[in-house]
Amino acid sequence: MAADGKQTTEETGGERDELRTLVAQLRTNIAARGRSGLLGVAMTPGASKKPAAAGAVPSPPAQPSASPQPVTMKPSEPQEPQRDDDRDPSAPRGAAGLQLVREELGDCKRCKLCATRTNIVFGVGNPDSHLVFVGEAPGADEDAQGEPFVGKAGQLLTKMIEAMGYARGDVYICNVLKCRPPGNRNPEPDEVASCEPFLKKQLGAIRPRMIVALGKFAVQCLLRDDSPISRLRGNLRTYEGIPLMPTFHPAYLLRDPSKKKLAWDDLKAVNAALAEVGISPPRPPAA
Ligand code: URA
Repeated sequence: MAADGKQTTEETGGERDELRTLVAQLRTNIAARGRSGLLGVAMTPGASKKPAAAGAVPSPPAQPSASPQPVTMKPSEPQEPQRDDDRDPSAPRGAAGLQLVREELGDCKRCKLCATRTNIVFGVGNPDSHLVFVGEAPGADEDAQGEPFVGKAGQLLTKMIEAMGYARGDVYICNVLKCRPPGNRNPEPDEVASCEPFLKKQLGAIRPRMIVALGKFAVQCLLRDDSPISRLRGNLRTYEGIPLMPTFHPAYLLRDPSKKKLAWDDLKAVNAALAEVGISPPRPPAA
């Protein structure tokens, strides 16, 4: 059990399918950069810097296949669905947009978690931020306070954000689930199905330039990819057309501090990718 009780399942995987997974991730990474304009940053050693063509036709996410396919580097071929842009382009953005989403969520009783929660944990931070951090679900501290990432893992997340050159209030922080699963058990599919539409709407209101997905559950859920987090992390993907960087959950980093360097590499890659589109943190990042 983690310090805050989250992320109890294993974060590391075996060597199985490593090559196929890496190939799929590399192709996806290149395509994601092409769509997002975040081109030319090597997230993993040896990653191609060749830009993908803009405006390419979406195709389903890359899936590791039973037999390895020849690697044909087609940078113009996207691997993940683009944002289903059925939103009203005149819909309010930023704080007003988030307020509408919060009102729609209301005193939510869409899933069974309403029976055991203390507070709905909607999200916190800058509603106009270009950077959004998405975790799994509130833990006990968050449920009690109504704010995401305020326990031990949250304190580490705050340090990570500060090391990037941001204050906690500069970015937006939320979770896939808005209510605490009892005993910090893993979220269940019906709970995700009820809650994820609100995450999508939050992101639609904020329209960040980058999502950092924290930990196995959030990453696998948002990417619909059950590859191990140890393979997914550090490779730029997209969620609803928004660039997404998978990295380790801070609770996992508390359990295994030796992985902090990898997480820091991922966050530096986020800063580098944002710098490519002219976005810098308000303060100099840590070295
Ligand atoms: N872990 C999460 O994933 N989210 C929180 O808000 C707190 C801990």
